[in-house]
Amino acid sequence: MANDYLNKHNNLLSLIGCTPIVKLNRISQSLQGQYYVKYEAQNPGHSSKDRIALHIINKAEEDGLLKPGDTIIETTSGNTGFSIAMAATIKGYKCILAVSSKSSQDKIDLLKTMGAEVHVCPSDVAPEDPRSYYEVAKKLHQTIKPSIYINQYFNALNTEAHYLSTGPEIWKQTEGKITHLVACSGTGGTISGTARYLKEQNPNIKILGIDAYGSVLKKYHETGELDENEIYSYKIEGLGKNLIPTATDFNVIDKFTKVTDKESALMARKIAVTEGMFVGYTSGAAMQGTFQLNAEGEFNQNSYVVIIFPDHGSRYMSKIYSDEWMKAQGFFDTVSNKEDKKIKE
Ligand code: PMP
Repeated sequence: MANDYLNKHNNLLSLIGCTPIVKLNRISQSLQGQYYVKYEAQNPGHSSKDRIALHIINKAEEDGLLKPGDTIIETTSGNTGFSIAMAATIKGYKCILAVSSKSSQDKIDLLKTMGAEVHVCPSDVAPEDPRSYYEVAKKLHQTIKPSIYINQYFNALNTEAHYLSTGPEIWKQTEGKITHLVACSGTGGTISGTARYLKEQNPNIKILGIDAYGSVLKKYHETGELDENEIYSYKIEGLGKNLIPTATDFNVIDKFTKVTDKESALMARKIAVTEGMFVGYTSGAAMQGTFQLNAEGEFNQNSYVVIIFPDHGSRYMSKIYSDEWMKAQGFFDTVSNKEDKKIKE
């Protein structure tokens, strides 16, 4: 077991996965049933993306596509970039990341710190423009040989990583008692892979997806159509999408709910002061979505709900954990200090 402290580890990679589930005690008091979170910040790279980075790299090694010194390429400034850079450093590969110019300098510095070569690409060009980060990554993959392109939105191994690890862990940790899974959907790898495993064990487990206002996933799940009217900009990073990722298996998801930037940010802060958990923006989104699903009558007193909290709060200090940023977004408009204090009591 990766999380047995008596084990000696040859490197950080054997600490990936086997994250704990932790009971919610205070924030969930008004909800029906019992609630556990799958605490993915416990991964050595502080997010669930460690699982996919390791699985995809291991598979490429098994298939003879990577040997020491080769290059791994991806388009991300987020958690996946950090996880790939960490695994590449440990295993002796080069890591090149094509990132959008929208990415904060903090994130770019973090990826460089982990040894990645970072190409900053303009965010205001179409995906098919040769300057876009998609096209830059593709070009790098074609010109640098040998290299692999992780392509997480369209890579079935992303989903498989969660089918092989997150799903079985949750099943064992809940001793098969889980009735509902709540998970954010970005690439859809986490929710789809975990759901596929859980539904194989018990098809009655309900899989509830969290999407963002400004993303197409919920509507696509309901209608089978990509509705461009659903697309507009939003702040939550890693949640939702403006295209349909093949890593998402919409058939294993029962229902989506959409959350707002503001409510998700406030909820992340509430999680910190009620449960002592310092988690990322999408953990706030998942918790906010859980409250909405409860209000929609999804749960009852027998519900045993597992909510995936994908990452750690440290990556959001200049955003949701900055009072200045929150004020600038207008997110403090309706929550007074008094209410903030009430939350803490
Ligand atoms: N939360 C965060 C912080 C993420 O970076 C991601 C990945 N984009 C997700 C949630 C969603 O996970 P997935 O891509 O597996 O759907």
